[in-house]
Amino acid sequence: MRAVIFEKQGTLALVDRPEPEVGPKDVLIKPAAVGMCGTDIHVFDGEFEGTIYPLVPGHEATGEVVAVGSEIKTLQPGDHVAVNPATTCGECEFCLNGRNNLCRAWNGLGVVASDGACQEYFVAPLANCYKLRPETDLFKAALIEPLACSIRGYDLLPRRMGEHYLIYGSGTMGLMMAQLAPRAGAASVTVIDTNPQRLKTAAELGIEKNYTSANDAEREKWDVVIDCTGNIRAIEDGLGRVKAGGTFQNFGVAPAEESANYSPFRVYRDEVTITGTMAVLNSFGRAVEMYEAGAINPDPMISHSFTLDDYALALDMFRTGKGRKLQIRPNDTESRVFVS
Ligand SMILES: [Zn+2]
Ligand SMILES: [Zn+2]
Repeated sequence: MRAVIFEKQGTLALVDRPEPEVGPKDVLIKPAAVGMCGTDIHVFDGEFEGTIYPLVPGHEATGEVVAVGSEIKTLQPGDHVAVNPATTCGECEFCLNGRNNLCRAWNGLGVVASDGACQEYFVAPLANCYKLRPETDLFKAALIEPLACSIRGYDLLPRRMGEHYLIYGSGTMGLMMAQLAPRAGAASVTVIDTNPQRLKTAAELGIEKNYTSANDAEREKWDVVIDCTGNIRAIEDGLGRVKAGGTFQNFGVAPAEESANYSPFRVYRDEVTITGTMAVLNSFGRAVEMYEAGAINPDPMISHSFTLDDYALALDMFRTGKGRKLQIRPNDTESRVFVS
């Protein structure tokens, strides 16, 4: 079978290799769709902490079960699943205290040491497989993994009724956070992106308050400000716009070596809370529930899909910032454009 492999930092190849072995508690999955995100770029460029090459990328996957390990009774061939890519040691201080996403041996399929889904078949532990309803569109449902990250983000926010939300970034994560905000009690949601092209997606999702600069918005301060860009200028701008008593969240992944300026006096005087959020913690199952309940509208969010042959094209396109959510569809016969 065919697989995309990151052979070493900055080098990829499409190779033929045997199907993966299935352990007693493993599930063999024929992937339908695999979302691409900034993490894939970091893994390819050798900037992700702990990556061990060679590695098959792909951590935002859905697919059809084709075989299950000898000890598995809860899934069977033909079932549709979404896959939580995170595995943790279960033994460290953080795992033992219910903070598995902070595990010092945190591993993600397609990210650290275990192969991901950009191959014709891949293997995931049973505990990471979440069954979908048969009628759920398996391709669009690859958005469940980023949705699970968003729900973790909300777990760390105050979620009070009637608050005003300001979100930086009109990419997948910003748009997820924006669509969830009303469900967390938001009275209004404002989305900022310096790229007006990207704001079109926000508008298509019904987010009317979308601007290239927060200076253009009708408010000066917001109760909750979420950065989904990782961009230092956006973070510095956003921190200054948190209302007294409000919360700022670093959701986007900023470059590890960069620092942002903020006023410690203001954080003190106005009791501003600054919080991070990292990947998924007990939120994958809830993401499936929310997705199947229609909490997000996937249609305007996914713009292109690519075959395994075109993986490098997808990576290049991602870097240019063109398109919306890009997917790899490892078993599709052609690359497709949904929103041009
Ligand atoms: Zn991702
Ligand atoms: Zn651990």
